[in-house]
Amino acid sequence: MHLRHAVSFRSFCARTFFGALSVALLLATLCQSQAADPEPKRVLMLQSFGLRFKPWTDFAEFLRPEMTKQSKVPIDFQDHSLLTARLDDDRAHAPFVDYLQALYGAKPPDLVVALGAPAAEFVQRYRNRLFPQTPMLFTSVEARRVQYDKLTGYDTVAAAAHNFPAAIETILQVLPDTKLIAVVNGASPNEAFWQTVFERELAPFSGRIELRWYNKLSFEDILKDAAHLPPHSAIFWHLMSVDAAGVTQEGTTALHRLSTAANAPIFSYLDGFFDGSIVGGSMHSVEKGMAIAAAAAIRILNGEKAGDVKVPPSRFEPPRFDWRQMQRFDISDSNLPPGSTVYFREPTVWERYSWQIASIVAVLLIQAGLIVVLLQEHRRRQLAEVLSRQRMAELAHVNRFSTAGELTASIAHEINQPLGSILTNAETAQAILRSPSPNIAELDEIVTDIVQDDRRATEVIRRMRSLLKKAPFEQKQFDLNEVVQETIRFFASLAVGRKFELVSVITPETLPILGDRIQLQQVILNLVMNGIEAMRDTPSEDRIISIRTSRVENFAQLSVSDRGSGIPDEKLKEVFEPFFTSKAEGMGMGLSIARTIIEAHNGVISAKNRDHGGATFRIRVPLCTDGAGPS
Ligand code: ADP
Repeated sequence: MHLRHAVSFRSFCARTFFGALSVALLLATLCQSQAADPEPKRVLMLQSFGLRFKPWTDFAEFLRPEMTKQSKVPIDFQDHSLLTARLDDDRAHAPFVDYLQALYGAKPPDLVVALGAPAAEFVQRYRNRLFPQTPMLFTSVEARRVQYDKLTGYDTVAAAAHNFPAAIETILQVLPDTKLIAVVNGASPNEAFWQTVFERELAPFSGRIELRWYNKLSFEDILKDAAHLPPHSAIFWHLMSVDAAGVTQEGTTALHRLSTAANAPIFSYLDGFFDGSIVGGSMHSVEKGMAIAAAAAIRILNGEKAGDVKVPPSRFEPPRFDWRQMQRFDISDSNLPPGSTVYFREPTVWERYSWQIASIVAVLLIQAGLIVVLLQEHRRRQLAEVLSRQRMAELAHVNRFSTAGELTASIAHEINQPLGSILTNAETAQAILRSPSPNIAELDEIVTDIVQDDRRATEVIRRMRSLLKKAPFEQKQFDLNEVVQETIRFFASLAVGRKFELVSVITPETLPILGDRIQLQQVILNLVMNGIEAMRDTPSEDRIISIRTSRVENFAQLSVSDRGSGIPDEKLKEVFEPFFTSKAEGMGMGLSIARTIIEAHNGVISAKNRDHGGATFRIRVPLCTDGAGPS
């Protein structure tokens, strides 16, 4: 019982201790979090005209995030618009000042930012009543719109300095033929101020160009006028807050409408207007100007005295141009002032498809390389083919010699015969001449015989020479029938001596083929010679060689048949192989050369046995497709 009491007392003490510790920790955490969250800075943004008026909206758009970025503490922005800036009427100013005092009198903001000239003017006029010791930053304002003599020690100016003559010079540089520049400027008090500046500062241009002022026109009339400007005109866009008809122009609508309607290029002085509607020009950078203004604002919020924060006025940046508008008005790059930047340039085909083009070119180059290699290969093959044909021609020539050798006896006999007759006839003629009364008619007959015999011998020699002529492979168009008939004539004289009969069936159709005449003649010669040799053991009355020509579809066909021993069936293909011979003294090259020659003519040669003994060799060579007759 005692023990249990003691235990519960101890646990009570422990619980109390941990409870107190938790409360202490919670308090410490709360205090710490309060120290980590500094109070936000309150910044009063005083806008000229309203929240949606260009160019001040652009300035505010850049200034706020820039200040937030640069500040170490959160910023509470509170916007107010100076609606009275639209009209030249001061009566509404006093209640607006009262209103601001009512809002901020008890607790003034940490900084007042006056955006634009109307706001600057208003603030300077009522500085004494508007929390006189609250730091104030004048920005988005042109230096000439600030009354520097009235600045207090709590004021800082981050202004811009416009150089309108320079802006006009830029236009004249880009478009040297310009004769008229229409200046767009509204009719609000602020714009009226600038109108006097324009008229004064641009007066020196009046001798060079005509200046047309739009400040007295309603915006609708401006649109009409701008649509019909004479050639060589340009438009300079300054401001259009309120037009001459008292119509306020919010946002970008007015500029975009003018850009669509105008027949001349629009230039301006501020990149807030560089949104596709204008060609460009020498202009301020809103972003840069606001980065400088934000830095000044932060220095003030961090405790520096506003009057000590000095910011030099920002000036025009190097000119910038919109490539799309340049295209629209045919403005050449070469006219742009040095240092200009061209934006929105459409990439060239090369820039857009560079890797695709590079790949295509690479593929083409590879293809071209392959084609070159293939062409070289083709050439090499052609050369090799020519060489092989030369070799074949040489071999064929040798083969013809061997054929000629085989025929020597027949040829000698063939020549001897006419020579013998010539001698006999000549001796007879001599005897007649020596007689007391020579018979002239007989002599004439004898001489005619001599001439004929001589011609016969000459013909044999001519044929022999043409056969043995060593000539390279050359292709010509000729009639296969002609070559066959020539070969038949060659053999006709030999047939008797060799004791065989030559039968020929020549188709009356011409068989125009493209090839080497001598080589084809050799093939026929070879086939006939083989036939004669195969008929060695054939009874003399059966020794017949038949030669036929015909046209089969698009081929010229020639067959040479004999009535000899025939070819063993299993050797029918082998006979075309080199060195295949069944003859003791044979070379076995004749048919192999014949096949090579026929294949060089894109033809085929085949052998088969005849049903009643003997063999037939058949050649097929393609006919000339142009249908031309033999040459
Ligand atoms: P060679 O006449 O020097 O033997 P070829 O190539 O002209 O060489 O002929 C090869 C072989 O083919 C001959 O030896 C022969 O056996 C056979 N041959 C060729 N033509 C005929 C034919 N008309 N009849 C029978 N056999 C033939």
